[in-house]
Amino acid sequence: MNILAPPDLRGRSFYTRCHVFLRISNLASILESPIEFLKGVGPQRGELLRQELEIATFEDLLHHYPYRYSDRSQITRIGFIDPKTEYVQLVGTLVNIVEEGDGRKKRLVATLFDDTGRIELVWFQGAQWIKKSLKSNERYLVYGKLNYFNGVVNIVHPEVELINAETSTPGMQPMYPTTEKLRLKGITNRSFAKLTQVLFEKIGPRDVIEVLPEDIMRQYRLCGRYQALRWLHFPDSEEHERVARRRMKWEELFISQLLIGRLRLQHTAQQGWHFERVGEYFNDFFKHHLPFALTNAQKRVLKEIRQDTGSGKQMNRLLQGDVGSGKTIVALMSMLLALDNGFQACIMAPTEILAQQHFFSISGLLQQMGLDVKLLTGSVKGKVRKEILQELADGTLRIVVGTHALLEDNVQFHNLGLAVIDEQHRFGVGQRARLWKKNEMPPHVLVMTATPIPRTLAMTLYGDLDVSVIDELPPGRQAIKTIFARDQQRAKVMEFMRKEVDKGRQAYIVYPLIEESEKLDYESLMAGYEQVKIWFDENRYRIAMVHGRQDPEERERNMQRFVRGEANVLVATTVIEVGVNVPNASVMLVESAERFGLSQLHQLRGRVGRGTEQSYCILLAGSKLSEEGHKRLQILVSTTDGFKIAEEDLAMRGPGDMYGTRQSGVLKFKLADIVQDSAILEETRIAAQQLLNSDPRLTMPQNQPLRYMLSQQGRQSHWGKIS
Ligand code: ADP
Ligand code: MG
Repeated sequence: MNILAPPDLRGRSFYTRCHVFLRISNLASILESPIEFLKGVGPQRGELLRQELEIATFEDLLHHYPYRYSDRSQITRIGFIDPKTEYVQLVGTLVNIVEEGDGRKKRLVATLFDDTGRIELVWFQGAQWIKKSLKSNERYLVYGKLNYFNGVVNIVHPEVELINAETSTPGMQPMYPTTEKLRLKGITNRSFAKLTQVLFEKIGPRDVIEVLPEDIMRQYRLCGRYQALRWLHFPDSEEHERVARRRMKWEELFISQLLIGRLRLQHTAQQGWHFERVGEYFNDFFKHHLPFALTNAQKRVLKEIRQDTGSGKQMNRLLQGDVGSGKTIVALMSMLLALDNGFQACIMAPTEILAQQHFFSISGLLQQMGLDVKLLTGSVKGKVRKEILQELADGTLRIVVGTHALLEDNVQFHNLGLAVIDEQHRFGVGQRARLWKKNEMPPHVLVMTATPIPRTLAMTLYGDLDVSVIDELPPGRQAIKTIFARDQQRAKVMEFMRKEVDKGRQAYIVYPLIEESEKLDYESLMAGYEQVKIWFDENRYRIAMVHGRQDPEERERNMQRFVRGEANVLVATTVIEVGVNVPNASVMLVESAERFGLSQLHQLRGRVGRGTEQSYCILLAGSKLSEEGHKRLQILVSTTDGFKIAEEDLAMRGPGDMYGTRQSGVLKFKLADIVQDSAILEETRIAAQQLLNSDPRLTMPQNQPLRYMLSQQGRQSHWGKIS
């Protein structure tokens, strides 16, 4: 985050431009300097730092934080190495520098000795390059992690530094995140520490602009920004390190809460289309075509939506409801409300299959009312597509179901009043923003998600939305029985599945996605498919298969075979994760269940238990299940409460990409962790609200640095597109 780079001044008032210009020209210039100008960097290393770690300026280096510190004040004599220590620092003479082994096993080995003993140093990567840089019979300062190989201790990929007149023991040494490539080119931890030291010799407190207002720093006992950065790189005590970390985490979370808070303010100020009445469509459907009675939760949510859309403000509502809680019907009836008021409505799903399912169920429900519904996805092309675009533009088509193809610029609506986004976690914040532009005033937006979002995460991700919850399942559902099984029990499991299928039910068999390798993924699925065929004889059973490598049409064809009941068994990767609805499918087997996230398993499990039959979800663990992994799976066996599961998942795995947030750029904190730092998150949320209450547009002088920082952040992370 580069708060001092020249801002975009187009469209600002003259006063603002002067202000920004003055502030920057007298204070900031040095931190804007390109990194290669720092003593000890130069053009070559500068380019490397840019490429590998996006460190382009002095400022970027300042924000490249250490992840831990090691005590390097001590030098251990080789003969006295304590095998229980993790890292050691040694001084000795380097000899016998030789390459050993061939091909992939090739490595560089050298011996370091002092007057008490000797130890081997080993490099597996960059052997040639390192060999060239090492000098035999010279004295080196060596630092690294002890490693035991066949009972002998060595150090793999140590940091080595030729000892000369200037060498001194480093003392408390910050450890920086770095890359293999940088290390191989000699940019080690020590280099980062040295460069940062050089930088701190050049700058003072005046160069680092304080972004937090004074009263906030006082109230929350936060140290100054310069001090924090200094202590973060070179703490003189654990206490100071803690203070520094807290301060910088606080800043990160505070900025994110301000962004969300401002977005929320914009939402509340945003005029919206006024849905004055409940009319023909809604009432006719409610009285004559609704296939079941609504649950109380569904009714309550519809009321909330009705209130929002009738308020004159734009609705931005998140609808949370566990899998199977019946969100689709709520979406459908909200869309009818839009139609009743002369508007068009659309519903957008993250995948083609889901869009198709919505299309079939919605058009099925609306057929008798004579309402035309069409499907627009990436694979709808040519004449059909042209026709749909035409009908949307002239308003003859009033309900469209689609994928993100709906977001494309050439999709123009005559009068879009409501956009429903299903399974939000696949869409970024920026995509939500693009929907806003589909009418002269933004349409109402209803975001639906089956992923129960723990509170801390919701605060960070959806803090700008109002939230409705469907906390009640439709009546008559039988709880799904979840069973944990080990690989040794496979025969029994398969027999059980077959018995269920013989009763006329359908079964899912799900294989994990192996992220590192699409190929492996495919192979394990194929091997699995062969196995399944052993149990489900092709002469008696029909097996369909869907996976990510098929083209969408083929996948769709196979999926439809299962949806229509023509296939007994569906072998699949996680493409069936969200939303697919086949009530007759009552058994699911998840292979290598330990490879899935808990929330993901919960989603998968939601594919069964949609009909009136007793449903089963069998979690089959691979042979390498750890104690921890077993515990995790037991959580799923013991509860069907999606919130509880999500909380556990978040605590165990961290936010990572469990909600597909990576692309939205909201959670890219350098230091903060929304689980561990939830107390800070809560503080910043309150502080951000207070600040925005007193200065909603951040026009007060003391808030200028913050405002500037927000504009920079906003541009980086799509948030800006919304305003
Ligand atoms: P989700 O919230 O997971 O999207 P769906 O909207 O797909 O759930 O609904 C799941 C199933 O429950 C569908 O078959 C739907 O027709 C049915 N359903 C929804 N609401 C009710 C209700 N109030 N009573 C009975 N069945 C319902
Ligand atoms: Mg759904």
